Amino acid sequence: MPSYGSGQAATSLDESEKVHEMEIIRIASYHRRGFDLAVAWTNPREHDRVLLGTIRDTSATLGNLQCLPLEIIHEIFLLLDIRALFNFRHINRRAQQIVTVACGYKAVVTHALETLCIILRTTIASWFTLSDLLKVLYTRDCHLCGSFGGFIFLPSFMRCCFFCIQEDSLPPVLPLSIVKKSAKSRPGHPNTLVPIVKSLPGIYSMDEIVRKRRVQIMSAEYFGRLPLHKADDRTRATQEKETELLRYMVTTSLPYLNTETGVIQNGISCSGCQIALEKALRSSRTGPSSCALRDKVYSYDEFMQHFRECREAQKLWELSNQGVDVAKISEFVRRRGYFKKRDVIMSFHSQ
Ligand SMILES: [Zn+2]
Ligand SMILES: [Zn+2]
Repeated sequence: MPSYGSGQAATSLDESEKVHEMEIIRIASYHRRGFDLAVAWTNPREHDRVLLGTIRDTSATLGNLQCLPLEIIHEIFLLLDIRALFNFRHINRRAQQIVTVACGYKAVVTHALETLCIILRTTIASWFTLSDLLKVLYTRDCHLCGSFGGFIFLPSFMRCCFFCIQEDSLPPVLPLSIVKKSAKSRPGHPNTLVPIVKSLPGIYSMDEIVRKRRVQIMSAEYFGRLPLHKADDRTRATQEKETELLRYMVTTSLPYLNTETGVIQNGISCSGCQIALEKALRSSRTGPSSCALRDKVYSYDEFMQHFRECREAQKLWELSNQGVDVAKISEFVRRRGYFKKRDVIMSFHSQ
């Protein structure tokens, strides 16, 4: 049985290995911000407005609710949808205080504030609870392909990856206007029957297409809940043109939180593979795998496995004098995969 001393030595070795790995990750990888900007996102200036809101009443009591023990109130919070929870939080200062210490609230606000803002602004917040969001925050891999998934598909709160968004592997989505045409007239607006995402004005997809008008979008997986005339209408609705951009409008970035280590990950790409692609382009020797490798998004562990096989990433590490000097990196990596100043272009976003 190992002595306490040797166990401690092993722990320090593990820790120094972890530090070494994080240094390699810092030098040889980057987060592909260009992917985050191709889906729904908000200007960070808006975060405070969403988070702080306007306190409607300056009184500091919860009225009759005050009689309940705090644990019961927190149990009720778990049942409230995100919109209702935020509405409650804005009632007064006391309400704000007790929501702030509710289970999971801090994790979401600390690590997924951008996602939370999108969820509130796209009006999907009234369909899901904070626990639903936490479940996705704690899930690492794409539900559809198993790769690292740095995104959430809003109509069903499903973890997904950028590749599945780009390759159209998500459940089909369509504008509500098309569905309404096929719906039988009967009481009950579709908005009250199925989750609807109200898109935000923005620039979508890697082709950077501007959309200023907000569109109500639903997932075809909820068709069963709607009173459509017949199966043909459902098929026709999913085949409508102009639906290509919609999948970018109903997804947004969401980091992964490892609950055991507390480490948050956004997904990283290999700087070495970008350099390899640029070299191949110069010599006109690009293969179909060059772009795929450049666009792959890894978790930290997956990246370290890749690093052991990627000669260009290893060269970057060596050139940096093992993390001491800043290695000369490609312009694409330095700009994290995007070139245009979308912050400027997106100024109409907050209007
Ligand atoms: Zn995927
Ligand atoms: Zn690589």
